[in-house]
Amino acid sequence: MIPVGLRVDVDTLRGTRVGVHNLLTLFARHQIQATFFFSVGPDNMGRHLWRLVRPKFLLKMLRTRAASLYGLDILLKGTLWPGPEIGKRCASTISRASEEGHEVGLHAWDHHRWQSRLRELTPVEIETDIRKGYERLVQILGKEPACFAAPAWQITPEALEVLDRFSFGFHSDCRGTAPFQPVIHGHRFCHVQVPTTLPTYDELIGLDCTPAAYNEHLLSLITPERCNVLTIHAEAEGGACLDQFENFLNQAAEHDLAFQPLGAILSQSDPLVESSIVSQTIEGREGWIACQKTTTLPEHQHCGVPTP
Ligand SMILES: [Zn+2]
Repeated sequence: MIPVGLRVDVDTLRGTRVGVHNLLTLFARHQIQATFFFSVGPDNMGRHLWRLVRPKFLLKMLRTRAASLYGLDILLKGTLWPGPEIGKRCASTISRASEEGHEVGLHAWDHHRWQSRLRELTPVEIETDIRKGYERLVQILGKEPACFAAPAWQITPEALEVLDRFSFGFHSDCRGTAPFQPVIHGHRFCHVQVPTTLPTYDELIGLDCTPAAYNEHLLSLITPERCNVLTIHAEAEGGACLDQFENFLNQAAEHDLAFQPLGAILSQSDPLVESSIVSQTIEGREGWIACQKTTTLPEHQHCGVPTP
């Protein structure tokens, strides 16, 4: 049996309403428990549409056929008027995830604001957004969210300092190789990290990996020697890629993969290494992302997207 941490990022209203519903049904059928990270404030993700003027983003849109992957309504959300509050509209879907035994964490109050402006936000602005998201989730779940995952794997030491004031059990803010204790410039942060260790669908598709070859390629990356943490998106694997993802789950069962929430992966990872977090770019993803930085990694475990 090969343990695989399964993380579901939920960025938008439609991803919550449709994608999470689909994934919960799929997971129940396959008896899988995962970790869901919810965005619960305004859905302004449509503002991404304006980034079309940036050539790199346009290329990515064409490569992943974003309109068909995410749906045109998602790309338009928040462009002309304030986006709808996801936590208000989809409280029952969010609490269903928890009731069905999945681990539930906070992803964002306003995913777009964090993703596009994190480095400009003041600590007070960051704390205000996190508090709003945290309190909304407490209201919906009737308990504290278990964990936190920074939108788009973007995190800074300043944001981590703010987040240490909250009682999250752990974070999943970056890419890396295995759970670790973050120590940046000598400062040891309270919350441990469970990084995403495998590439995402949108990073692989269109580089050298066709949709048909994707499942096989992903399966080849999952080995017992490494810590396997996969992130999927409710908007993609719970929507346009649902059939392909179900196919992946069927193949995974044949490969003896055991999907687990990230908290379970963390509990099997004692003792934790200490690592720093640095920002870098990776193939297939626009902009910077936060990466675990350790000095003694074997070659195959380096952060980034392995070559398909
Ligand atoms: Zn996200």
